[in-house]
Amino acid sequence: MIVLTNEIVQLNNGVQIPAVGYGTFRVKDSDELAEKVTLAIKEGYRHIDTAHIYGNEESVGRGIKKAIDEGIVTRDELFVTSKVWNNGLTYDETLAAYEESLQKLGLDYLDLYIIHWPGQDDRYIEVYKALEELYNNKRVRTIGVSNFHVHHLEKLLEQATIVPAINQIEFQPRLTQVEVREFCKKHGIQVEAWSPLMNGEILNDPTLIEIANQHNKSTAQIILKWDLQNDVITIPKSITPSRIRENIDIFDFTLSREDLEKISSLNEDFHYGPDPEVFNFK
Ligand code: NDP
Repeated sequence: MIVLTNEIVQLNNGVQIPAVGYGTFRVKDSDELAEKVTLAIKEGYRHIDTAHIYGNEESVGRGIKKAIDEGIVTRDELFVTSKVWNNGLTYDETLAAYEESLQKLGLDYLDLYIIHWPGQDDRYIEVYKALEELYNNKRVRTIGVSNFHVHHLEKLLEQATIVPAINQIEFQPRLTQVEVREFCKKHGIQVEAWSPLMNGEILNDPTLIEIANQHNKSTAQIILKWDLQNDVITIPKSITPSRIRENIDIFDFTLSREDLEKISSLNEDFHYGPDPEVFNFK
């Protein structure tokens, strides 16, 4: 991973992505979400993560449109990701799903389109082939995957003509995913963390509190910085204005090697969310 500034990462096809993005899972389509997306952009986020299955692409799109209409950003300054809910989708259905996401978001291209889960068979290969067509036709700037373990990536790479730019996986101090991160690094696939804060449920950990006190930062900020210093892009979600601000205010301190090791030693291979080995779109 090449870090061009504190905030920008270059992907394997040269496209740049801001290292901290704004997550939107578990927030319904609503005026509130649209407002929070606009607020996040005002606060400096330039990277927004949604998915077909979240059912909120319309509000995310409205929030983006408002920020553009108000002159806060231009479309090309934003990096927008959505994910295909590839539950048995064929090649053509995947192409149609992309158009549907674009239409809901009110955009004419995405910066990243990813396969949401590998599932329990290899039908993700057909879906990925459709993503390759979208990429080759310049409809999308980068393509990738999510929740792929090493064996999924190996199978995909055997048939892919384009190496995924990103693998978005659960990554938090209790699940450090060493094996898949090493594989991704070797193959030029950028890792991105979902549920980086373990959905808020790891923030009272005593080790994190101790490190946070030393740096005069919150435990959330400590974890997010640990992500970046581990070469992992991160997409914390918050609908609370102070936390939206807090989660991107992580560029004025550095964790020591000892801090990083202490946080990594919290690993228990604990999946807060579903384990891709058993997840089956239910
Ligand atoms: P996070 O780990 O980002 O945690 C979000 C929770 O933490 C919310 O309840 C939020 O509360 C709280 N929170 C956020 N910031 C702070 C803070 N500074 N201090 C205290 N509490 C805080 O969980 P998510 O599961 O939402 O993951 C992040 C994003 O990753 C998702 O939104 C989604 O975009 C993506 N994702 C992708 C998946 C995939 O399969 N590819 C799976 C799951 C998530 P509040 O909002 O009330 O402020």
